[in-house]
Amino acid sequence: MKMRLAKSLLIAAGMIPALAMASHWSYEGHSSPEHWGELSNEFKECQAGKNQSPVDISHPLEAHLAPLNVHYTQGPVSLLNNGHTLQASFDQKAQNTLTIDGVKAELQQFHFHAPSENTINGKHAAMEMHLVHKESNGDVVVVAVMFEVGAENPALATLWQKIPQNTDKSVALDAQIDMNALLPTDRTYWRFSGSLTTPPCSEGVIWLVMKHPLTLSDAQLKTFKALMHHDNNRPTQPLHGRVVVE
Ligand SMILES: [Zn+2]
Repeated sequence: MKMRLAKSLLIAAGMIPALAMASHWSYEGHSSPEHWGELSNEFKECQAGKNQSPVDISHPLEAHLAPLNVHYTQGPVSLLNNGHTLQASFDQKAQNTLTIDGVKAELQQFHFHAPSENTINGKHAAMEMHLVHKESNGDVVVVAVMFEVGAENPALATLWQKIPQNTDKSVALDAQIDMNALLPTDRTYWRFSGSLTTPPCSEGVIWLVMKHPLTLSDAQLKTFKALMHHDNNRPTQPLHGRVVVE
């Protein structure tokens, strides 16, 4: 009853846009990760899900995983600061693919989190990149690459040059980068089942976290952090009996 009254008052006050904003989420304050599940019915899985990401990777189980089967060429074509992350997108999705369990998945986009979302033995990397692939049935496979501060990263340098000045305005990238340069030479990885790390936190995502990090310079990390204004990592979530394999 109270709810209904509050709602009608808002409507009376012409505040419909405020209601529509109910599913706004962020990394700070009232719409921060611990509240995501309460912000919208569509975000329920963020709170109720038992296979949520990110996770802490410790005590992995030896499972003789198949070598990472990626066919990467070049890309991406555009860069967007959507306020939550810096995201690079492709137009021809079939250009970069990954095959896992005999199923092909196409690279849709990649984006960054600082500090890292997944942790290794409780420790964050300076930054984490998520390469988001989609199978034809809609299932998502994320390849995560950690970055530690060290030598400047040439591939990131090409992207960082074009960082959009405005939020929600995508910029075209003229120079292509070799997508293989965004994977470590040693492509051994950890695998587990998880979710999207942003609302709606949908589960059924295959996570492949590369064991070996790449580097970026302190200046490159600072540029990204200044762009985001705040940390953009969701805290690690309970495993609830899940196993990380290697
Ligand atoms: Zn991500």
